[in-house]
Amino acid sequence: MFEEIDDFDEAFKRLLDEVLEFDISNPFEDVEKVLCIEPHPDDCAIGPGGTIKKLTDRGIEVVYLCLTDGSMGTTDESVSAHELALIRRKEEEESAKMLGVDRILWLDHRDTELEYTPEVRNEIVKIIRAEKPGAVLVPDPWLPYEAHPDHRRAGYLGVDAVAFSQLPNVARSDLYAGLKPHQVDVLGFYYTAKPNYFVDITDVMELKLRAIRAHKSQFTDEVWEKWEPFLRTVGLFYGKKAGVKYAEGLRFFPALFLHITPFAELV
Ligand SMILES: [Zn+2]
Repeated sequence: MFEEIDDFDEAFKRLLDEVLEFDISNPFEDVEKVLCIEPHPDDCAIGPGGTIKKLTDRGIEVVYLCLTDGSMGTTDESVSAHELALIRRKEEEESAKMLGVDRILWLDHRDTELEYTPEVRNEIVKIIRAEKPGAVLVPDPWLPYEAHPDHRRAGYLGVDAVAFSQLPNVARSDLYAGLKPHQVDVLGFYYTAKPNYFVDITDVMELKLRAIRAHKSQFTDEVWEKWEPFLRTVGLFYGKKAGVKYAEGLRFFPALFLHITPFAELV
């Protein structure tokens, strides 16, 4: 049928609608479990926290996978890295509960030193095979001007782990341990500048802010003076695009478009 088409716009639309059957109207429709991957123990709340609350309210299980220990996140010289990691673990448990999340998995790589290696990627592959999530959320590694290496690498690690978890020859030792290759149906990006799906979080925005503030070691009164207006402005930014007050913006792709595609940005 495509040999009759001589126009890109028509081909693009029919590729999405008829060939790939890409429907972005409700990406979580058939999802029972979501794995939300975060570089640090506060990013799931700051990024898609409102979306997570909406999902757990619908009975969808959300599990966090925190890649680092958060041990560098302080300007207080009296707190050691080890102490801070313990404090942040507690804060994250409390914050997660507020959003309906009971389980947090930790890889405990050192904050600021998250490396992209096949070993770290395969740690995530193993968790995906064990947890079998229908959807995985990761920070968008292509966010312009993102300066934190842990964030960029968490994005790449997450995307690649999702792509590879279905390939039996990747980390084949998992199979000997009784795990099966797992195909993740839905991959979503948060912290994205190119959202193509919006969640109206107006009614849970205050709860989201409280869940973020539960990370007391990160948000002292002084820090919060700047962060609360910043976070509200981010909510309004996505809200303006969505036609509501506060929203979160996510980005979804057909899996085929996450490789060698010159027009992936158009989705
Ligand atoms: Zn972070």
